[in-house]
Amino acid sequence: MELTINTSKPYKVIIERRILDQIGQTFENVKAGTKICIVTDENVHPLYTKILERGLHLVNLYPHKVVFPSSESTKSFDDLANLTNYLAKQNFTKTDFLIALGGGVIGDLTGFAASIYQRGIRYIQVPTTLLAAVDSCIGGKTAINLDSGKNLVGTVWQPSGVFFDSKVLETLPGPEIVNGIAEMIKTAIIGDSKLFENLETAGKNGLGSIIEDCVYRALTVKKGIVEADEYESNQRYLLNLGHTVAHAIEKCSNYQISHGKAVGIGIAVMARISRIKGILSPESELRIKKLLLSFGLELNCPFTASTLAKAAASDKKIKGDEITIVMPTDIGHCQTLTIKLAQLEELLALGIV
Ligand code: ADP
Ligand code: ZN
Repeated sequence: MELTINTSKPYKVIIERRILDQIGQTFENVKAGTKICIVTDENVHPLYTKILERGLHLVNLYPHKVVFPSSESTKSFDDLANLTNYLAKQNFTKTDFLIALGGGVIGDLTGFAASIYQRGIRYIQVPTTLLAAVDSCIGGKTAINLDSGKNLVGTVWQPSGVFFDSKVLETLPGPEIVNGIAEMIKTAIIGDSKLFENLETAGKNGLGSIIEDCVYRALTVKKGIVEADEYESNQRYLLNLGHTVAHAIEKCSNYQISHGKAVGIGIAVMARISRIKGILSPESELRIKKLLLSFGLELNCPFTASTLAKAAASDKKIKGDEITIVMPTDIGHCQTLTIKLAQLEELLALGIV
């Protein structure tokens, strides 16, 4: 399966089982002498770097490799400096490129480094988590974390290509799969009722053979939104469904609650608010909650509306004293609502039981 993301710099996404050792061949026409650096983490490296390299060797490309610890703390200024210093020491130039082999952490850091090294070089995304495959691998958002919050420093820099080999999910731990599923449910509610139905049918038995189709559908929704709003001025807010609450939950839990779990709760909270406000039917709210539960996600928020509202004060979606939040209105449809920050607690209180 293939789709093209028509942003300022168009690029292709290839979704195919067992494609990892064939990615190299697509660089057949890369000029002799082009340098490549595979950036990965220490969990993914022993599993997949060699397979990826096999295809590169076939077209006489011998990549450099940089392996980071597998932790969210890798998204730091220090590691950004380590990576860009390495590229400079190895004489990487504007025509060379990076390959991000890993989950969102590696994708965000590699994309950021690519966007600023020599004012911008190319990079390829090879997502190895479901979360990265359905969400962060397209759209070009890159970031590192600050002590005050996640992803507070970053750029928008589109990759030159994305390759997703669904076979890599076989080694991904269960909780990481659930993270991706939460993001997929979010995308289905934003813009694809058929994806929502497919997920309902799959339920607890897992996604099995429909995984590629689900990833394709989720990326198609995101493609439409990113193409309409590459630099996040308007529609791209929709992708934030459940995320104001989710980011606040993650922060309040000292990041002990995973992103996916927090997004699941965030979606449930927003669905309840929408239903109480009369813009989402009780049937749709029930379907959303059932689907979240069927994949082992939780509905109840462990923090009060007041705690969440305080934590949300540093949300990146705040402009001045206003915040834009996303409300589901149907399965496959959402709308944005801009409110004063001071009204956030009152609104969230409607959704927290
Ligand atoms: P994301 O931000 O996409 O959820 P991370 O980059 O934080 O993902 O990765 C989550 C964890 O899963 C990390 O510990 C990473 O090393 C590990 N990981 C990533 N891909 C795989 C894979 N295919 N198999 C096993 N572990 C993986
Ligand atoms: Zn998310």
